Amino acid sequence: MKVFKFGGASVKDAAGVKNLSSIVHHQHGQLVVVVSAMGKTTNLLETLCNAYFHKDPKVASIMKELKSFHLAIVDSLFPLNDEVYKHLEELFTNLENILSSESSLCYDYEYDRIICFGELISTTIISDYLKMEGIDNQFIDIRKYLKTDQNYRNANIDLELSGQLCREAFDFNTAPVFVTQGFIAGTRTNQTTTLGREGSDYTAALLANLLNAEDVTIWKDVPGVMNADPKEYDKAQVISRMSYKEAIELSHFGAKVIHPKTIKPIQNKQIPLYVRSFLHPESTGTVIQEIDEHLKLPPIYINKANQCLLTLTPRDFSFIAEEKLSHIFAILAQYKLKLNLMQNSAISFSFCIDCNSAVFNTFLEQLQEEFEVRYNQNVKLITIRHYNDEIIREIIGDSPTLVEQRSRTTAQFVLRNHI
Ligand code: ASP
Ligand code: MG
Repeated sequence: MKVFKFGGASVKDAAGVKNLSSIVHHQHGQLVVVVSAMGKTTNLLETLCNAYFHKDPKVASIMKELKSFHLAIVDSLFPLNDEVYKHLEELFTNLENILSSESSLCYDYEYDRIICFGELISTTIISDYLKMEGIDNQFIDIRKYLKTDQNYRNANIDLELSGQLCREAFDFNTAPVFVTQGFIAGTRTNQTTTLGREGSDYTAALLANLLNAEDVTIWKDVPGVMNADPKEYDKAQVISRMSYKEAIELSHFGAKVIHPKTIKPIQNKQIPLYVRSFLHPESTGTVIQEIDEHLKLPPIYINKANQCLLTLTPRDFSFIAEEKLSHIFAILAQYKLKLNLMQNSAISFSFCIDCNSAVFNTFLEQLQEEFEVRYNQNVKLITIRHYNDEIIREIIGDSPTLVEQRSRTTAQFVLRNHI
């Protein structure tokens, strides 16, 4: 059994759905197809959720936009009397019922129960389309089988329970192909949860782990894992083989090609992960697997934008020692801010975090109670794996760096953004 994951970009229009169908058609054998919301639907649903939560009358027009985007796709794929219209109508009505009821006070809970419609709609359309094309498949509402805690918007999976439930639900004696949602899940009491933005890759990896898949393929709009973003670096090239360890490091440093949580579930079961282009399904892309021998990789360059660099100095001139550091880490965890680089001296601690404007000011105020804080917003963090002097010269040149750090394999530079 194999797992295929299709992201939003691959199913952003009718042509994308047809292309998915053709890729699935060429695959023989048992298959689980994990799909994200179509195109930018999740962003639209986020606006819808905000409008609903803040009782903004824009709810109606956003709902209209959501419907017409999907109906335009459906209209060009199906005959007018197809069952798919009934299935979609049901989903739209369920969503409208939520929107016309009073919201609870818990934003994250409301977020998950609204945002899930992106994936529910896309998989409904895709499952029905595959059926019309003669591909026997079963639709699965994954919220019933992938079970999490109640940490809405970033829920944690109960692996044991999910394993039992998924192995029962994905019974290949009943169908050769299953179509299900990425990114969404459910609690034991059937409340909807989500796994964090861009979490569909993670769902694919989890299902592969729980169902003991042979391999997982993530179909993307790039030809594989590349050593740089081709939009930023015209000499970017595909890396054909890579270890789990390298892949998890890359996604940690900000390479957007795979969601960081994806690697652990597949590494734990030694399941290979392929990253391939849905635009060129004939090319092989990248395989990520266990690799024992030393693999010579080209320098890999990752640019993480929208960073904030802070330097803290204790007001009472005390040392930045373990206790102070753990206190700083606790504050970062409290605000759910991700630490991307750190450096300390006797009485200063510098670090880079993702800029999160929603919490930044309160975070800053809290730090300022104890520390003198200097900061630069909107800086970028450049990471070069397997660096050499030549590539550093090429990428960084003589741009003044705010912080610089090198380990055996990784060089990192914090730069002002306009450079
Ligand atoms: N649709 C979700 C998002 O846009 C999940 C995903 O695409 O992986 O974040
Ligand atoms: Mg996506």
